[in-house]
Amino acid sequence: MSMKTRVPLLAGNWKMYKTVSESVSFARDLVNACRAVNGREVLVCPPFPSLTSVKEITKGTGIRLGAQDLHWEMQGAFTGEVSAPMLKDAGCDYVLIGHSERRQYFGETDDTVHKKMKAAFQHGLLPVVCVGESLAERESGSHLSVVDRQLRVGVSGLTAQESLRLVIAYEPVWAIGTGKTATPDQAQEMHASIRKILGDLYEKSAAEKIRVLYGGSIKPDNIDSLMAQPDIDGGLVGGASLKVADFERIVRYRDV
Ligand code: PEP
Repeated sequence: MSMKTRVPLLAGNWKMYKTVSESVSFARDLVNACRAVNGREVLVCPPFPSLTSVKEITKGTGIRLGAQDLHWEMQGAFTGEVSAPMLKDAGCDYVLIGHSERRQYFGETDDTVHKKMKAAFQHGLLPVVCVGESLAERESGSHLSVVDRQLRVGVSGLTAQESLRLVIAYEPVWAIGTGKTATPDQAQEMHASIRKILGDLYEKSAAEKIRVLYGGSIKPDNIDSLMAQPDIDGGLVGGASLKVADFERIVRYRDV
């Protein structure tokens, strides 16, 4: 039973690109480009300094705002960190958690992912929890078990209500920023496995409601075939989210 009843989510991760003024001008163009987009949710995740300015522009447009990371404590002596209440007050609806670049360069683990996810829910932010295997793990055939472990540690322990609002992004590390996309079949295999694990962790009916996004070199020319897969509920887009025309085409993917 894989009728898609989930609202597709197309999310742009701007990473460490765009100053505040660049973000403002980009957000204005994006608002124009995304007029009359219905039946799908659009999310942008700018760098921290741009959040409030982008919020001013996207307010009332249906484009949602997300941050790229957060700290799990509410406040405290954690120089350089940003908390969930701060992001909520800045106008964020969502927050990315455990992006592979955070895991690779900043030492994030499944345990920190778990703490961050709990903090996000506690303060009214919706977490987009990122999982995915490395090239070596894919080549050795352990990709399914790697993601299984990331999920069982990272996204366990939610209430039934919270579990329905969780978003997962499957991003094979070998596909991020490399121009190498997982084939629709490879992605579908993993997405089905993720949904099965979510069904073990929570109710099977909850797992049917949780959106599982794909990420990794999504482009205008591969989004349609990815979105045609029964368990792919949207995309987390890096490079192609930095160009209005490309991101617009991705948001307006054709359901084939
Ligand atoms: C990402 O940043 O999450 C990502 C998938 O990047 P890209 O689309 O550039 O591969």
